[in-house]
Amino acid sequence: MFLERITITYVEPCWADANKIRLKADFSRDIGELFPYLNAVLPNATYNPHAATLTIVKEGRLIVLYPQRLTMAKARNTTDARQVLDWLKERINQTWERRDRIEPCYETRSRPTALELYQWLPRTNCRQCGEATCLAFAAKLLLGEQALDRCLPLFERDHRHLREAMEELVAALGTSPA
Ligand code: SF4
Repeated sequence: MFLERITITYVEPCWADANKIRLKADFSRDIGELFPYLNAVLPNATYNPHAATLTIVKEGRLIVLYPQRLTMAKARNTTDARQVLDWLKERINQTWERRDRIEPCYETRSRPTALELYQWLPRTNCRQCGEATCLAFAAKLLLGEQALDRCLPLFERDHRHLREAMEELVAALGTSPA
């Protein structure tokens, strides 16, 4: 078996949705070499070869894969998260077994939309970033015309978890967050 375990290492409330959780997990081995193959077979994958990240949205759960770990946001609870991790482990192992028959894809095939980025902003339309609305800020972030650190509320303690999710999304976009 290529990947034996995905071990949850950290769980906390998802501050974007108080009824859900956010977690971190470690792979039992480095899976980075498989990213172009997973990119070819997983729908809605966003691959960034430069940042070595693969982002997946599975039924509302945002999963960012790094070679040796992952983060997941908006899981319903730990049972739900473990089911998604079991699904992911199975897909990783299936992809490994079938890799000789898969054409690896090294391109970023899809990007999050402005609305998806907007979900991870404070959504107060406070204008501290210089934009009239959070959605306008999200749209400019997507285009690389705004920097994440212009959203000062995002860096306040209460929004730490939103910020971490946004930093992961921006890293997957390949757009500098600074
Ligand atoms: S500073 Fe942040 S919270 Fe305020 S409008 Fe801009 S994006 Fe929205």
